Parts: sequence; C-alpha cells; structure tokens
Amino acid sequence: MLTTPTSTDYLEPFTAAFDAQRRNAPRMALTTAAERIERIRRIQRWVVAHETDIKQAMYADFRKPSAEVMLGELMALNAEIRHTVSNLKRWMKPQRVPTPLSMIGTTSRIHHEPKGNVLIIAPWNYPFVLSMRPLVSALAAGNVVIIKPSELTPHTAALISGMIAELFPPDEVTVFEGDAAVSTALLDLPFNHIFFTGSPAVGRIVMTAAAKHLASVTLELGGKSPAIVDESADLQQAAGQLVWGKCLNNGQTCIAPDYLLVHASVKVPLMDAMKKTLDRMYSPDGQPVAASDSYARIVNRSHFRRIKNLIEDALTKGATITLGGQTNEADNFIEPTFLENVTDDMRIMQDEIFGPVLPVLTYRTLDDALRIVNQREKPLALYIHSRNRQHTQYIIDRTSAGDTVVNDVLLHFGHVELPFGGVNNSGLGKSNGFFSFQEFSNQRGILKRQFGTLKFLYPPYTDRVKNA
Ligand code: NAD
Repeated sequence: MLTTPTSTDYLEPFTAAFDAQRRNAPRMALTTAAERIERIRRIQRWVVAHETDIKQAMYADFRKPSAEVMLGELMALNAEIRHTVSNLKRWMKPQRVPTPLSMIGTTSRIHHEPKGNVLIIAPWNYPFVLSMRPLVSALAAGNVVIIKPSELTPHTAALISGMIAELFPPDEVTVFEGDAAVSTALLDLPFNHIFFTGSPAVGRIVMTAAAKHLASVTLELGGKSPAIVDESADLQQAAGQLVWGKCLNNGQTCIAPDYLLVHASVKVPLMDAMKKTLDRMYSPDGQPVAASDSYARIVNRSHFRRIKNLIEDALTKGATITLGGQTNEADNFIEPTFLENVTDDMRIMQDEIFGPVLPVLTYRTLDDALRIVNQREKPLALYIHSRNRQHTQYIIDRTSAGDTVVNDVLLHFGHVELPFGGVNNSGLGKSNGFFSFQEFSNQRGILKRQFGTLKFLYPPYTDRVKNA
C-alpha cells in the first residue's frame, strides 16, 4: 500500500546515517596514522582505476574537457593525497610547546583530536575534487563524514555516491545526493564541523544553521577576484595567464580573474596579446571557439541566462563588446567576451560573473585601481602582474584578499603548503595540506604538572597575590 511520506519519514535516512556515524566516531578517533592512510589510499587507487569514468561523468555534466579534469581536479587531488600521506604521522604527533616562566613545573603540548561528525557540502564547478579533497583531510583528522555533492552535476554526484559506497562502510563515510532540500535537512543535524564550498549567499545560510548547534564551519566561497596589470608587466605572459585563468572550466572557477584592471598605457598591447592568445588556444586552425574540444560549457540553462543577462544589462548601460559576444542557448555556449566602458552601476561589476566574460577597466594611478578593489567585498584571490617590486608590495599592503598570486593565476589552489581560502565574504577558514587537517581537528591544549604546585595562589589571598 502506498503511503504519503510525512516530514519525519523524509528526515529518517539522514538521522539514521548521522546517528550510526556518531556511534562510530569514537572508534574512528582512535585510528592510527597507518589506518587513516590506508583509507586515503583507497580513494587514490579508485581514482586511478576509474579515471575514464570520472572524465566521462564531468563531460556528460558540462562538457568539461578531459585535460581540465586532469589539471583542475585529479592533479590537485593527487597532490593533496601524496602530501597528506607523507606528513600525517607528524601532524598527528602531539606538538610540544615552550613553557613560560610562570608555568614552571609543567610541560604542555597541542593534541589534534578529530572534531567528530563532519558534513561536506560541495559545489558543481569542480564537483569531484571539491568533494574529495575535504574528504581526504577529514579522514586524515579521524572524522566520520557525510558528503552532499551538487545536484547540478548529477553524473558526477552519482559517481561519487557509487565510489563511496564501494570504498567505505556508511558509518564512516556516506553520500546523500540531492538539492537544497537535502542540504537543509542535513544542516538540521548537530554536526561538529561543516565544510561548505559554494556561494556567499548559501554560505550565510550554512553558517546560520551551524550557529544552532555551534558547529564550527569552513566556508570556501567566491566573489569578484581582480587582476591588476601594471605598466611594467610582461604583457605576453600576463595575456596567456589571464586568458587561461578566465576560460578554464568556461570561467566557472571560484578563483578565476573576474575583472581586469590594466594601466591605461598598456591596455591596447595587452588586449591585442589576449586576442591572439585566445585564437591560439581555442581556434588554432581558424575554427570557431564553439568547435574547440578544449572549451567547456556553462553548466545549465539558468546559469547561461544569468550570464547573458549580465552582458545585456551592461550593454544597455553603455558598455561595449570589444571581443566575442556570440552565444548559443541550445548549447549553453558563451564565447570568450571582453567588455569595455563598464561602470559600477552595472550588475557585471557587482555580481561574481562565473563565466568567460571579462570586464576591462583602465587606471592611471595605483590608488585609483585600489579604490576600485577596496570598495568591494574582500576577494577570494587578487592577482598582480608586475615586474615592479614596489608596486607589488604597495598593492599587497593596501588590500585584503584570501590569497594573492603575483605574475601568474590559479596556481595557489594546488599548492599544498599554502593556506587556500577566502576572507569574510569570500570565505572563513583555510584548506590545503596541514591547514585542512587543522580545520577538521580540535586543537586541544594539554598541560601537565610535572612537579611543585601553585599553593601560594589559593585563598586566603596574601598580599603577594593581591598586589601581583
Ligand atoms: P551554491 O552555493 O549554489 O551551492 C553549493 C552547494 O550548496 C550545493 O551542493 C547546493 O546543493 C547547496 N545549496 C544550494 N542552496 C542551498 C540552501 N539554500 N541551503 C543549503 N544548501 C544549499 O554554489 P554553486 O553554484 O554550486 O558554486 C558556485 C559558487 O561556489 C561560486 O560562488 C564559487 O565562487 C564558489 N566556489 C568557491 C570555491 C572555493 O574554494 N572557495 C570553489 C568552488 C566554488
């Protein structure tokens, strides 16, 4: 007999999975470095054995080129795994700290204990690595994990679901596929830590939900990341980096250069170099960009329309297209597009673009450029292209950003020794290597008295204490 599910029926699988993991969390906390490494290696082996399936899933989701799956997803994941495996034993060792004079007779150390029940909510743009990298770190730290992949990349979500079911018992790691309703149901549960990657708007929802249980959060968000090119920059090099950074994954990269600030004296040669670079990258034999197998697509119709509306809003307010502008709704295709004469009242200068459209602004003094950067939210990344060390330092000292790359783009995402993440609107907390391990661990201070005691501190208080 069919019954109408009640809201409790709907929540039951989430609660049951969470409770099973909570019962298992103390056992996971006691796992050794070798046992955790063995779990991480399972992921590594699976990825090697299923590389083609992973590439096919992302091609089916948004025609992501297989080379970009390698570059943006699998290489970064592999680097994280190798680094974690080589360092985990050392990271897990209690860390001795010096003893201040006032603490004489004691020794102290910091112990990294797992936070416990962890929820990972992932976005669609790098759907595999942004689920798997946090998973590697969460397992390294000894947690139990529920993953909620994005519903916008259903083939990859199904692949992740199957992979995890094959590799882990559900009381260690499990996956719930679905949309915001599934996230909302999961966010009601008393997780110890929530690792969210997505938009600032949903980041606020996640943090509000976390506040109910005082769960700690890592928020890997987005925003408008500027690229500044000054008059001393190597323009050929900058052109190649900016075009690649903007068009990789069809511009749907959280750390893609969102808009360009170029010194007025080098705008024309830089734009010429960028146009030539685009031809070399996507039309080497004169074919249209749409025919290139190195060019992904916008993930779905609604994002396609969102970006098209951003362009149309800019055009009606006086912007001009100086390159590209072709679109094809049937294919969610947007040509690499440069927009000039853009102004702050245009939505393209307010919203994160997340597509292959580059607003180009010129500046005459660095202070003018910095004013444009600093009147916006703190970006996830800030790029500086300059051969002038004073200029570079001047910009770094007078801006705030999650991370900065000088004379390149994007590379910091895969740098296991650098803290990756945002600041305020672009994110809270950091990931990569030890920073991720820390994010999933409670840093527990342990102080042990070895000899003596501080009896003189106890009441009745003497003048020695009163006047201390
Ligand atoms: P999104 O915020 O729309 O969705 C992210 C996840 O949250 C998805 O799993 C989605 O199902 C879930 N979600 C959506 N609405 C929700 C709600 N109301 N309550 C709870 N959960 C909800 O983001 P997206 O469109 O998938 O990804 C694009 C955004 O992510 C961009 O802003 C980009 O800059 C950012 N991003 C950041 C990083 C980073 O490392 N900082 C990496 C990739 C993407």
